[in-house]
Amino acid sequence: MNYHVLTLFPDMIEQGLHTSILGRAMEKGLISLSTIDIRDYSMNKHNRVDDYPYGGGAGMVMAPGPVYRACEAAKAGIPEGRRARVIYLTPQGKVFNQELAKEFAKEEDLIFLCGHYEGIDERVLDMVVTDYVSIGDYVLTGGELPVMVMIDVISRLVPGVLGNETSADSESFENHLLEYPQYTRPEEFMGEKVPEVLLSGHHANIERWRRDQSLLRTMKNRPDLFEKVELDKKDRGFLERLKAEEEKAPQRDA
Ligand code: SAM
Repeated sequence: MNYHVLTLFPDMIEQGLHTSILGRAMEKGLISLSTIDIRDYSMNKHNRVDDYPYGGGAGMVMAPGPVYRACEAAKAGIPEGRRARVIYLTPQGKVFNQELAKEFAKEEDLIFLCGHYEGIDERVLDMVVTDYVSIGDYVLTGGELPVMVMIDVISRLVPGVLGNETSADSESFENHLLEYPQYTRPEEFMGEKVPEVLLSGHHANIERWRRDQSLLRTMKNRPDLFEKVELDKKDRGFLERLKAEEEKAPQRDA
């Protein structure tokens, strides 16, 4: 996977992504990162890349010329015949999630465009952008943090990036479930013990306990996801027992 990031702050991206798991993935050649400084494509003698908005109003708008030329430069760095999607990070886009990350992880090249100030001149967006993506319903100062979030999420899905190939399978959002709680040593911490079943070495029971905990967490924390979970017979049995226990428990206000 090759990432090409168009930004006014290349250092921020480089420094943010060259560490830990992603840093190692780059060293191994599993992913690559190139940053393109949009300012290098300004033809203004003061290297300006923004200007006042037509029609008035607060803030500045990134001009179309430097963005267009930077995008052409990114495309020129991709072998001929390989079409790259151009993703504009914007609070107005489709909200990023694990499903979208899986779709992007199938690509060979991704070009990301980071906006700043009040955003980017609409005409160049119409010309170059294939996907408009938001990382959530809030407004950040620039697209740099969102692009780092997206690259981190997508890279974890690139084969070989995670040491343990299976570890992405049981994580939150797989099959619309949140992950079960995790524990490590010591066995007892400030009087709190690790659930007995995890020490039993009984794999089937551990699997069942984890599945039940995932169901429970998703139901409580993310009922919107829980609606989409495909329940099997054992799941339904667990949920029925849970309901029965809750009904038996004394009512707090009683
Ligand atoms: N005026 C724009 C609007 O109201 O839609 C917001 C511009 S924002 C201050 C500057 C830049 O930050 C945007 O061009 C975009 O690249 C990035 N940005 C801000 N919030 C974002 C979000 N939730 N997701 C992705 N990118 C975001």
